[in-house]
Amino acid sequence: MRIGRAGLTAILISLVAIGVSAQRGRGGAPGQQGTPTPPGPPRVEELKKEVAADIETMKVATQQMVDQVFSFGELGFQEFETSKYLTAILEKNGFKIERGYAGIPTAWVATWGTGKPVIALGSDIDDIPQASQKPGVAYHDPMIEGAPGHGEGHNSGVPLNITAALAVKKIMEREKLPGTLKLWPGVAEELVGAKMYFIRAGMFRDVDISLFAHVGANLGVSWGAGFGTGLQSIEYTFKGESAHAAAQPWRGRSALDAVELMDVGWNFRREHLRLQHRSHYVIVNGGDQPNVVPPNASVWYYFRETDYPHIKELREIGDTIAKAAAMMTGTDVSMRILGAAWPQHMNKTVAETMSANILAIGLPKWDDADIVLAKGIQRELKQPQIGLATQLAGLRGGLDPEQNMGGPSDDIGDVSWNVPTVTLSYPANIPNLPGHNWANAIAMATPIAHKGVTAGAKVQAMTVIDMLMRPELVQQAWDYFRNVQTKDQKYISFISDKDQPALWLNEKIMKQYGPEMKKFYYDPTKYKTYLEQLGIKYPTVR
Ligand SMILES: [Zn+2]
Repeated sequence: MRIGRAGLTAILISLVAIGVSAQRGRGGAPGQQGTPTPPGPPRVEELKKEVAADIETMKVATQQMVDQVFSFGELGFQEFETSKYLTAILEKNGFKIERGYAGIPTAWVATWGTGKPVIALGSDIDDIPQASQKPGVAYHDPMIEGAPGHGEGHNSGVPLNITAALAVKKIMEREKLPGTLKLWPGVAEELVGAKMYFIRAGMFRDVDISLFAHVGANLGVSWGAGFGTGLQSIEYTFKGESAHAAAQPWRGRSALDAVELMDVGWNFRREHLRLQHRSHYVIVNGGDQPNVVPPNASVWYYFRETDYPHIKELREIGDTIAKAAAMMTGTDVSMRILGAAWPQHMNKTVAETMSANILAIGLPKWDDADIVLAKGIQRELKQPQIGLATQLAGLRGGLDPEQNMGGPSDDIGDVSWNVPTVTLSYPANIPNLPGHNWANAIAMATPIAHKGVTAGAKVQAMTVIDMLMRPELVQQAWDYFRNVQTKDQKYISFISDKDQPALWLNEKIMKQYGPEMKKFYYDPTKYKTYLEQLGIKYPTVR
């Protein structure tokens, strides 16, 4: 749901530029931005170097996972092939798998190891409707017209975490390090549909540190409240009475009228909402045919704001307008929550620790073909042709909440209010793309994504080793969590005990396109890469 991760990066660049230079000189405003954590004991640093070197040798396996999940291209709550594939790899490597977690068929938790600390590694797995696109091709060229595709890059995050976890596991076994690794998938992240249910089911109750990974166009991490919003996703269903639309329209009560009046009401109210807010809707049911007065109609809203009280308030305004529309049309309205996310607040200590590892790894070395592809799609979309990231984004943090002008959401926000969490952004995609679009799928089964994921896996693995071997960091992280972050604001879930995950979402779309998509599943036993299987010359540009 990070629309505009790339766009956001562009906004951040000017702000971050100060931070980058300040950080390099270890100077900058005290208490702002943050300082990368100094190196640990020599043995820790040695093991971190070793784990990064090992991940470099795992490149082929990493690439195969990234390509395989790309080829499944599954939407939220329908990630059946994806989850089957990823859990099989983990199970084969000795992880204990709990499937169907929190009553969600595609959700799972994979654990390995014993005792404390418990380190959770998560990343999203779902994709975007109508984003089908041939990888490596710098213009719109769908594999299947109208089908979903990885138009954000969620095919890459769990492969990154698996690579990191398998490399760390080898070291833990040899060194007999206590600790537990817990891998989990961000099911239906685009619908912000699952993480609050994971929390309710207790996934993070025993977790000490949570490391999330999200695709981006640079290698970076941030702490504090940062940019972006949280949200409530609500479906309003109106019920009226059908009638012959020409013979006896006065006997009908149109549910569609109520939907339209609600939307009109909301759009007038919009002028008087805070600038930070974002809201948008789609009409999911507008009736069957014009000669029947629609007896049922539904509209689905996302209400986004930058903090919990404002999100709650926005939802209440929506409910009021829905009830008013029902009154105006003589219909009834019911509402249900389809998803929700808290605004994110990332942990300072963990971000600073990860930041030191980011500086040690640096950005991947792009070759000419990668840059030609990136510039090709940037040219196609009439964006500045900056190619790929060549300078680290730097550690960001300490943003004044008043400066948060809103933006996207991610239900990792809920996790971040339950346990010290950071999101590693890794450079598997191309800057200056629109987000939630076919263009964001282009890089995601090419060497750009493969290199970005390998770099990210190194950082993730090194940070896990820091957290396993330097208990003072875990303690500091909890100190920030308890005494700074949650001092005045505690987590209150947006869902009640009775709410259930919206498992039916996307079912129809996957039924429609699934059989055709199956023909394009990647077969690594026959082809080295997915590009090779598809017969695509890399890069293909106009
Ligand atoms: Zn995302």
